[in-house]
Amino acid sequence: MLQYLQDIAWQLGFLAVLTAVFTALAFLSRGREALRWPKSLRQSAVTNFLLLQFSSLNGALYLVLIAPLSLAYTELGLPVLQAEVWQDQPIWLKALVALLVYDFGIYWVHRFLHTSWLWPSHAVHLSDPELHFLSWSRGHFTEQLVIAAALVFTTSWLGFGLEEIAGLALIKGLHQYYVHSKLDWDHGIFREVLVSPQFHRWHHANVPEAYDKNFASIFPFYDRLFGTWYNPGSAINVPTGIEDNPPNDFVTQTLYPFRAWARMLKAYRAQLQRKARGRVA
Ligand SMILES: [Zn+2]
Ligand SMILES: [Zn+2]
Repeated sequence: MLQYLQDIAWQLGFLAVLTAVFTALAFLSRGREALRWPKSLRQSAVTNFLLLQFSSLNGALYLVLIAPLSLAYTELGLPVLQAEVWQDQPIWLKALVALLVYDFGIYWVHRFLHTSWLWPSHAVHLSDPELHFLSWSRGHFTEQLVIAAALVFTTSWLGFGLEEIAGLALIKGLHQYYVHSKLDWDHGIFREVLVSPQFHRWHHANVPEAYDKNFASIFPFYDRLFGTWYNPGSAINVPTGIEDNPPNDFVTQTLYPFRAWARMLKAYRAQLQRKARGRVA
């Protein structure tokens, strides 16, 4: 119990530092308007914090799933790079290749999450009407299980152990907090090289022209390559969220995918029955 309380205190301290950093950056780039914290933002932050606690609890489930997925990769006889390829290579090159391959995997897993049956698990992440740095924590546990597939693809294909790329998780995590923050930066001449807050805000935008765009998590050139790039400029005032946004609370968000899947199954069954009746008639 004491350990748990210490963890919570540590997390709150870390989030307080991030809040101070992102608020200062937003103030420097947008002035006093950046200091306005509407009630709905506070509600979003609470929901995101609770979802973060819940996903931390099922982190064990995520790790448990990685072993059978890795085994399936080997059993299916999918290609693995030989260890000699990496002999005498510098650590930065291994890290760069790992990030490139991981983001390629994430790009396609993310596109898959935007298809009808997986959409409900991903919609929770996109449902934040007040996108801010902690919105990264708004992820449903069913979505995390799908994302594990991208990690397994990366480590299995490259022949890396999870522990070898663990350090990258910290850098990736900080970058994800940054791209969800309320900054309108687009990285100028590097806009195609590294995902910016503006680029990712368009992914969260609740406007039809931005739907199903900007899937990359680190390298935006994957979106260029596969025809899903979208960044017409400032995104700071576009509404974020999804169509038919569910109420912004922890319980509704946690139940959301299961309710959506139940509705979809019901509609699918009704469609089958109509077809069967049509055949009889
Ligand atoms: Zn998405
Ligand atoms: Zn996001």
